[in-house]
Amino acid sequence: MLLVLKFGGTSVGSAQRIKDLVKLTVNDTPKIVVLSAMSGTTNSLVEICNSLYSKNIEQATKQINTLKEKYFTEIKALYSKETSLEKAKNLIENHFSYITAFTLDMFTANEEKAILAQGELLSTALFHYYLEEINVESVLLPALNFMRIDENDEPNIEYIEKYILEEINKHKGQKLFITQGYICRNAFGEIDNLKRGGSDYTASIIGAAIRSPEVQIWTDIDGMHNNDPRIVNKTHPISELSFDEAAELAYFGAKILHPTCILPAQKRNIPVRLKNTMQPEANGTLIANLNTKEGIKAVAAKDGITAINIKSDRMLLAHGFLRAVFEIFERYKTSIDMITTSEVAVSLTIDNSKNLKEILKDLKEISQVEIDEDQTIICIVGQLPKDQPGYANKVLEALKDIPLRMVSYGGSSHNISVLVNGNLKNDALKALNKGLFNYN
Ligand code: ASP
Ligand code: MG
Repeated sequence: MLLVLKFGGTSVGSAQRIKDLVKLTVNDTPKIVVLSAMSGTTNSLVEICNSLYSKNIEQATKQINTLKEKYFTEIKALYSKETSLEKAKNLIENHFSYITAFTLDMFTANEEKAILAQGELLSTALFHYYLEEINVESVLLPALNFMRIDENDEPNIEYIEKYILEEINKHKGQKLFITQGYICRNAFGEIDNLKRGGSDYTASIIGAAIRSPEVQIWTDIDGMHNNDPRIVNKTHPISELSFDEAAELAYFGAKILHPTCILPAQKRNIPVRLKNTMQPEANGTLIANLNTKEGIKAVAAKDGITAINIKSDRMLLAHGFLRAVFEIFERYKTSIDMITTSEVAVSLTIDNSKNLKEILKDLKEISQVEIDEDQTIICIVGQLPKDQPGYANKVLEALKDIPLRMVSYGGSSHNISVLVNGNLKNDALKALNKGLFNYN
């Protein structure tokens, strides 16, 4: 049984951080370690691609060399044996001459994805060489041999399960496997990725594929917090969340976890634990199929929301109106987050306003429409059983001085959402911190 441990860009961000990983990964527990690229690398690779797209070869070459130099500096601090340093130098030369080759060639989205994959290939190999140098046995599993997405960009779990197990089984008796986060192949076998920040997703997919006892996401924060520490003075980490609660929080802005990330683990009922590299003994936040304690556990906010108010006399006592409205959003592949209705009007919110103009045009054919931009959804999450009184009241009481544009309650028993004007977000989060968690 292998655990899955994922470490993000800052955890491999320097020679010292790579060395520090040993304490967290080298022990008797069999595991797969999933690594991101060193922090800043993927951003630099994106910039290199942008230069290549705009055919600014001189700039691209400069950016490539700057990044390469950074790696040369890090490896000098990382390895003390000449043989490891030599190996690492060759590795860096190989990856960077691969990238440089694109300055002479055609450049399309496919080449971009191949370039973006280099960061994780480098970080995992450098860690593997470091373990080798200190005489720790480990196996580098090439993610491109088993990570697959299908035509809809969804992970192909059956494929991944078959091929990752095949890879693992080649190394009987080994306890420490290392692999790349983020990168994969698509349905055509081309190099692709799981979108920015996708390493968490990799960990969850692998955890599901191998039916791991637990997936651990290691960061520099002690788990998920009850409120946004950048905005309110006092917060506390949450020790347990159900999958549904965690999904709401991740979707509505708790930055620590990618929203889609836990889905694969949830589907196969694999617990996900958020752990802190600075406090490894702490329990962190456990996300699992749990019957967590009743009550409000956390709040999170999501900015950049557009509210659309749709009013029609035809809605009064009529059926089919909402269907007509929803069809318009479907036509433009725009998903709706919050909905509230009255007898003659419906308000809803979207976070993707790419097709707003077209949507409004179509809506206006069947109704009167008003929009409010720059709104914020504040989401209050917990176990809030429908047969228990008081939760909505608590929230509304805490927010009594703040104008609420929309309120949504009853959609599920673990969420109450309110919509406020974006410039009231901080006030709302502070008011909730006081009213719900007694923090001043
Ligand atoms: N390296 C990728 C990124 O920066 C994936 C990740 O770190 O999760 O987006
Ligand atoms: Mg990340």
